[in-house]
Amino acid sequence: MSVRRFAVIGVIAGGLLACLASAQTPVVDDAALRHAGAGGAEWLTNGLDLAETRYSPLKHITTANVDRLRLGWAYELASSGGGQLATPLVWNGTIYGITNWSVVFAVDARTGKERWRWDPEVNQTAVRPKVCCGVVNRGMALYKNMIIAPIIDGRLDALDADTGKVVWETRVAFPQDDYTLTMAPRIAKGKVVIGASGGEYAVRGFFDAYDAMTGRRAWRFYTVPGDPGKPFENPALKKAAATWSGDWWKRGGGATVWDGMAYDPELDLIYVGTGNGAPWPQSLRSPGAKPERENKDNLYVCSILAVRPDTGAMVWYFQPVPGDSWDFDSTQQLTLANLTINGKPRKVIMQASKNGFFYVLDRLTGAFISGQPFARVTWAKGLEPGTGRPIVNPEAEYGRDAVELFPNQVGAHASSTMSFNPNTGLVYFTATIDGGSNYAVNPDFTYQPGRHNEGLARGATPTRPRPPAIGPPAVDGQRTVLLAWDPVTQTERWRAPAGGARFGGTLTTAGNLVFQVVPDGRFIAYDAGNGKKLFELQTETHTGMGPPITYLVDGKQYVAFMGGVGQPPTSTAAGRGSSPATSPSSTAVSSPKLFSFVLDSNNASGGRE
Ligand code: CA
Repeated sequence: MSVRRFAVIGVIAGGLLACLASAQTPVVDDAALRHAGAGGAEWLTNGLDLAETRYSPLKHITTANVDRLRLGWAYELASSGGGQLATPLVWNGTIYGITNWSVVFAVDARTGKERWRWDPEVNQTAVRPKVCCGVVNRGMALYKNMIIAPIIDGRLDALDADTGKVVWETRVAFPQDDYTLTMAPRIAKGKVVIGASGGEYAVRGFFDAYDAMTGRRAWRFYTVPGDPGKPFENPALKKAAATWSGDWWKRGGGATVWDGMAYDPELDLIYVGTGNGAPWPQSLRSPGAKPERENKDNLYVCSILAVRPDTGAMVWYFQPVPGDSWDFDSTQQLTLANLTINGKPRKVIMQASKNGFFYVLDRLTGAFISGQPFARVTWAKGLEPGTGRPIVNPEAEYGRDAVELFPNQVGAHASSTMSFNPNTGLVYFTATIDGGSNYAVNPDFTYQPGRHNEGLARGATPTRPRPPAIGPPAVDGQRTVLLAWDPVTQTERWRAPAGGARFGGTLTTAGNLVFQVVPDGRFIAYDAGNGKKLFELQTETHTGMGPPITYLVDGKQYVAFMGGVGQPPTSTAAGRGSSPATSPSSTAVSSPKLFSFVLDSNNASGGRE
């Protein structure tokens, strides 16, 4: 053996040691993603790990010292009018984020100093009318040396992680067809999986898989059947078509995919949540006189689907809201866990649903295990044991006469992030536990392409009696809360009076902590076991808050999140987000920032050095 060969081995071994010492992942490949979150130093995929637990094993910050958290640095995101819903990613000492109009940035995780910034230059005038619910993005994916970014105008771009240069670009959907891209793509078996938003416009929902190295589409799964006069794209859609009536395909049908997704590599299943039926009232979407409409569940609206990553073939589905008429998207975060239920180990998938029930399903088969209301619920009397099918209150089947129903149309839990701590066995999520909305069918509804097509009579005054409520007893004045939920017993363990269905969310750690970002701009830490508040700070951004993450660099644990809306800029240059807003006019409204907190910080000078 030559000296040179020894030297090469030495270099390789040295490199491995260096990687271990700094706990950095050299290449973000399928194996690295499978172990994402295990070390805790980096944040490689949207939910921290493929199971989407948002549980970090880091414990430098604990219940004993969390009150010493201080702002380490802040990076100005630019003020372009929209909330910060994205989960940042952390890899190789760098934080990657995406902000309004899909502007992507990379900053030093130690200092917040900008490394690069990329603006996809979205045609804002053309796209803005197609954005139902805020100029937002929910996150990105990392694969090999690429950042994979969803562009709100329907493009999907892979960027070189070192430089921000485009490696490939593909087209998922077109805004002129009323689709936008807002969700965080996920990686499964070398494929990028992503769906498109647009349910309020009445579109046909779908999600796609793309080759992560080339951007070439591998498959598409439409979530609702198309014109039955044409061949169905797959057997699952043929089955689904029998659950529809009338000429639904002319109005899209809905079931868009825009948020929750998880991946179990051992079971070889991708889990996907689908959105509301479109238009909202089933009588407008899938019409026909009863009994023609009976047993018309409108598959696969408001469903959780399990598909194979290689082909997109469906393995099982569970539909929390058959024949949805209430905008009860089932797109909320999907989290995988292994629980012991009735003495048996179960591989489960969990969701705190917009419809007010917390669901626990067997993730191998989709079988319903349990479901209980965590909020005030009046649309249903409960769930059928064994099947989980809702027992819908007859009053909730509204027509032209308005009825007030709970939860409201924003939902009991929507897009705020949830976390599962295996040490406490609890799930932490924020909720609107006491909110109602009025529902009445718009008698003059006509489908208009390019417009919102919810089909509701707005401003209708309820004339029908409120159905009876189930769920936890009301506590005076509490509408938005943080819940610590036991998924085994389906009971609330503790609650804190700060939260809401949308914005912010939670992160939990081995330091026995729950970190919460509150929609009003506060950053709070609690004891994960008993809910005792241990730290609270107002960021002064007050709105548009995103979810918290944690990471470790140079031996220090940080907690970071984005927040702030700012205002739409007046100049074109700022509108493209090409430079951070630092002018006095834009800082008058709290300018959006990426914040990073660390123990005993003595550097609060801000990020743009
Ligand atoms: Ca919706």
